[in-house]
Amino acid sequence: MMDFSGFENSRLDSLPSLYKFHTNADVLRLDLMHPVISGNKWFKLKEYFKEAINLRKTNIITYGGAYSNHLVATAAFAQASRLKSTGLVRGERPAQLSPTILQAEQFGMKIIFLSREDYKRKIVPPSLAEHYTNDENYLINEGGYGMAGAQGAKAIMEEVDTSAYTHIVAAVGTGTTLAGLISAAANKQHIIGISVLKNNLSVEKEIKDLLPNEKINFTLLYDFHFGGYAKYTPELISFMNDWYTETGIPSDFVYTGKLFYAAKELIVNNFFPKQSKLLIIHSGGLQGNRSLPPGKLIFQ
Ligand SMILES: *Cc1c(COP(=O)(O)O)cnc(C)c1O
Repeated sequence: MMDFSGFENSRLDSLPSLYKFHTNADVLRLDLMHPVISGNKWFKLKEYFKEAINLRKTNIITYGGAYSNHLVATAAFAQASRLKSTGLVRGERPAQLSPTILQAEQFGMKIIFLSREDYKRKIVPPSLAEHYTNDENYLINEGGYGMAGAQGAKAIMEEVDTSAYTHIVAAVGTGTTLAGLISAAANKQHIIGISVLKNNLSVEKEIKDLLPNEKINFTLLYDFHFGGYAKYTPELISFMNDWYTETGIPSDFVYTGKLFYAAKELIVNNFFPKQSKLLIIHSGGLQGNRSLPPGKLIFQ
């Protein structure tokens, strides 16, 4: 049914340049798995698609912004699953479509732009009824937020043997991925989420809502957003270039650039107790860098 022949394995990269800070840190390279359904999106989407297929749904509907990794990953996943997809995108249709939207269309996604008001209210436009009946539609929340997403993300902890790590660090958008990591972690492991949104204080509750009640042992850090969602500064871009030179690992400016910046700051400032062993989750998202002006990144 599904054609995922293009998939590669993830792997662990160690970070010898951090040994001088007495820290053992590895990066789980989920970004290597697929160029579009990259990183955490494969894990977050797979349970939704399983359910949609079980229910014999034929059209996947979801919401996203013009640069949304979630939107384009959903489009690619739908095509690989031989399902149709509809993307409801925030804002007026621009004269020049973003690379992300163009690629989603190439994967067969039908794109409908919603006014900011309609987007906020998460309406499904009545015009969609001309193409699909309600019985055919399967809705995935904006950003893939939800129980099935968290359930799928638990499998990230099984990609490699994660039992020896004391701390696991990951970027947080909706928090669905973090919820999966928290549920899969052993009691002694500490999960740390780096929020990439400004004033994202509701995310703690949103994560807790996805967790079985006994598991609430995690920390969210809110000071690494660089101005807000998809915002960046010259400092972030130059960090991403230096990080690539130092480690050979590319990052994206929306999520993983901020994640690696935070991880390094924490390490340098002795946030982690001695003998800690860190696992940093590279959640992918490199496609998003196409919305940067060319020439900013040395690894694109
Ligand atoms: C979507 C995304 C995230 C955020 O995942 P959530 O489950 O929404 O917190 C993190 N990193 C990358 C690269 C992403 O594309």
